[in-house]
Amino acid sequence: MIVGEQKPLSEIVGFLGDAREVLVAGCGTCVTVCLAGGEKEAQLLASALRMASRLDGATRRVTDVTAQRQCEWEYLDGIAEHVRRADAVVSLACGIGVQAMVRHFPDAWVVPGLNTTFLGLPEEQGIWTEQCQACGNCMLGQTGGICPIARCSKQVQNGPCGGSENGLCEVKRVKRENGVPVMKTDARGRQVPVTEDVECAWHLIHERLKRLGRLDLITGVQGPKDWSTSRDGGPRRIVREDLLLLDEG
Ligand code: SF4
Ligand code: SF4
Repeated sequence: MIVGEQKPLSEIVGFLGDAREVLVAGCGTCVTVCLAGGEKEAQLLASALRMASRLDGATRRVTDVTAQRQCEWEYLDGIAEHVRRADAVVSLACGIGVQAMVRHFPDAWVVPGLNTTFLGLPEEQGIWTEQCQACGNCMLGQTGGICPIARCSKQVQNGPCGGSENGLCEVKRVKRENGVPVMKTDARGRQVPVTEDVECAWHLIHERLKRLGRLDLITGVQGPKDWSTSRDGGPRRIVREDLLLLDEG
């Protein structure tokens, strides 16, 4: 699923300028599951924006609506009347939903209320981890279903880099709360980020293939990965001729 985090309220307020009618638009799919941009979050953000307007002395009316999916035209048609009435729309969808709104409603001022963070897995209540970077040429078949592109800090392709210890990556993750790095004071009195351990992806790959008796999959040298299917080739597009609607005119 696509995972996102709500932007700080002050940043969202900064997008609104002198808009008097503001619509907060939630999305009922991925960002609902990750509790960042669904119906409940849209209602809460609308309330927070109303409160902020009152405190700022701004005369602003804030309403909310939620589309089942902001990335599909037919669901956007369902909220068109709400969008038409708004001077500014805060979309709580991922970056795809925001851009779908911009294309579908070219006269509307649409701003993002979320930071789209990654393609991830809900590990447990309140914890999501990145699992895939949509490289366009999936190698999970060679790596026992564990992705070295998304889960290895260096994206190495031919086994561990040599820096792992006790199954942990030598690159630590900066701990964040609500998108903001958590800081601490070190022994020399400097503010430094708090870090946390990450499992070494190649350690996980090795352990899994060993358990399944498939270490043969990683004993040969992999050729260079074809990155032309990834972002390096520019914005990507898929065309499925078998699904295209024929022009009967
Ligand atoms: S190999 Fe590519 S497509 Fe497959 S999970 Fe990793 S990033 Fe995603
Ligand atoms: S320690 Fe493991 S996960 Fe970390 S960069 Fe090296 S190979 Fe990748």
